[in-house]
Amino acid sequence: MPRLTPGVPRKYNRTAPLKYKTPEEAKEAQKRNARRWHLKNRDRSYAATRAWQARNPEKVRQNNLKWSRAKRAKMTIEERKIIANKRYEEAIRRKYGMGLNDYEQVLKKQNNHCALCFRTPNQERYKRLNWDHDPQTGQVRGLLCTPCNHALGVLGDSPKGLTRALTYVDNIHSTLYNWPFHAQ
Ligand SMILES: [Zn+2]
Repeated sequence: MPRLTPGVPRKYNRTAPLKYKTPEEAKEAQKRNARRWHLKNRDRSYAATRAWQARNPEKVRQNNLKWSRAKRAKMTIEERKIIANKRYEEAIRRKYGMGLNDYEQVLKKQNNHCALCFRTPNQERYKRLNWDHDPQTGQVRGLLCTPCNHALGVLGDSPKGLTRALTYVDNIHSTLYNWPFHAQ
């Protein structure tokens, strides 16, 4: 075995034997060593990671994005559906204290359609009706399709606001204004 010449940097020391035959092998070994060091010095290792993360918030964000995108790309459609359902369930439980069973039950009670316009969930973009709730009390009133839900909100979501709209629709051509052009 050739020996290292003392005082000569390793990369210039032609007589030094190559420890690893290929760059891949060297890289693997480096990974293994890093892992071993990490397991022996967990506290220092985690502290160093946290310090690096604090110094590079933008890189952390980019890495997280890359990681989650790669993970999502690997998922099957079924897995995505399961996750979407879980998120939906969590959201309605948090917002209205309702579970998926409650949705099915209320939908059945409403004969499987929107409580206002009778559109069915199949006619909806997201194949689901929305929980409509009283903005004052927070109490759930029923299931509405998205347009109806928005319409209620836009009109003030109160008997007062809806009566105003009703009065308007009823009276626009008779009492409120002397409307010059009358749609026939
Ligand atoms: Zn509707």
